[in-house]
Amino acid sequence: MKLTIIGLTVLLASFITTDSYAESVNNAADTAPSAHNATISEALEQRVIEWRRDLHQHPELSNREFRTSGVVAEHLRSLGLEVTTDIAHTGVVGILRGAHPGPTVALRADMDALPVKEMTDVPFASVATGEYRGREVPVMHACGHDLHVAMLMGAAEYLARKQAELTGNIMFIFQPAEEGAPEGEEGGAELMLKEGLFAIEKPDAVFGIHVWSAGTTGHIGYRKGPLMASSDRFEIRVLGEQTHGSRPWGGIDPIVVASQIINNVQTIVSRQVNITKAPAVVSFGIVEGGVRNNIIPDEVYLEGTIRNFDMGIRSEIFEKLTTTAEMTAAASGARAEVFIDEGYPVTVNNPDLVTRMMPTMERIIGSENLYEADLVTGAEDFSFYALEVPSMFVFLGITPPDQNPLTAPSNHSPYFYADEASLRVGTELLINWALDYPAAR
Ligand SMILES: [Zn+2]
Ligand SMILES: [Zn+2]
Repeated sequence: MKLTIIGLTVLLASFITTDSYAESVNNAADTAPSAHNATISEALEQRVIEWRRDLHQHPELSNREFRTSGVVAEHLRSLGLEVTTDIAHTGVVGILRGAHPGPTVALRADMDALPVKEMTDVPFASVATGEYRGREVPVMHACGHDLHVAMLMGAAEYLARKQAELTGNIMFIFQPAEEGAPEGEEGGAELMLKEGLFAIEKPDAVFGIHVWSAGTTGHIGYRKGPLMASSDRFEIRVLGEQTHGSRPWGGIDPIVVASQIINNVQTIVSRQVNITKAPAVVSFGIVEGGVRNNIIPDEVYLEGTIRNFDMGIRSEIFEKLTTTAEMTAAASGARAEVFIDEGYPVTVNNPDLVTRMMPTMERIIGSENLYEADLVTGAEDFSFYALEVPSMFVFLGITPPDQNPLTAPSNHSPYFYADEASLRVGTELLINWALDYPAAR
């Protein structure tokens, strides 16, 4: 039976080696590095769906992805990959060496879930709990990282079977703690790199996908250059001098100073940085101070977040925030101590890499389903890989076509819902990126 099929294939191949075939290949070469789509079988799609449901039912918080990384490592080993575990706590890296020499492509998935109580009615909804800030909390894959892991496991399975045809190497990065390590711990992409991820193998390019409720199933949002913001936390401690509320002249009022700081900080983005270069946001989220109506307290504590799309403007804002807080406080005889906790850098897609991989994306999903994504003020630690090597990160829509993606429950919502039809698209995208990259370089 097998022989017959091979015979038929040879016959067909010789039949289509005509001028018109050669011409179609030449035309395709203009738009696509590879003339065909690698597609997954229904059986593999089913396995990806099952992995995703299993992971969804067993979500784990950042740096606690023990079961998840076990599932991943076992799968990668069963495929015969070179597997490294326990990197950045629970990270897993698999390397697939192709039969033909060539570049190394890295594909990345994040594995962690969130302290969110799932409110969807899917039959595999999570009832898991975990420990967060010393309390037991419900845990849910409310950001869709379960889909990321399942798609990358599927891509690894497909590509491992093609080892004999592969040019170059493929690195599968399963990363913990994208949502941020627990207090007092390090984690995520930054720790993966610190612990020598790229010493195992330095990839020539890194690709990543994030599932996205604001997109329709199977649609891909891409962007050249900055895509997602940097995210940095700041603290300002305003130090005054405690006195009776009836005699403010007897002390230094940090409440009034704090309110002046909050106002003056508003002029950083609106008056002091060149917003034609890139937008920015500075927001306060915590204002704490005082215990009683007639006591002017010693101290007020402020905390907030800074978002940027340009690393230069980012440092400018750090500087101006510090100056504004310190000088505003000084004007009233108070003191301001500013601390900036640098978080994730700007996620920047290498424009050249995006251009070169566009034909692949157009081929896989059709140009009508490909759109230029707006800037997103959320942040991603994928940005750390992008600082090291040319990288590309895209959004994969997961909201069913009969629903409005703009009103669908967003990522991190307890009602976050992913259409599983998107799993095939994401898996095939990862596979085709890896297959096309060597020729598209
Ligand atoms: Zn998230
Ligand atoms: Zn996420």
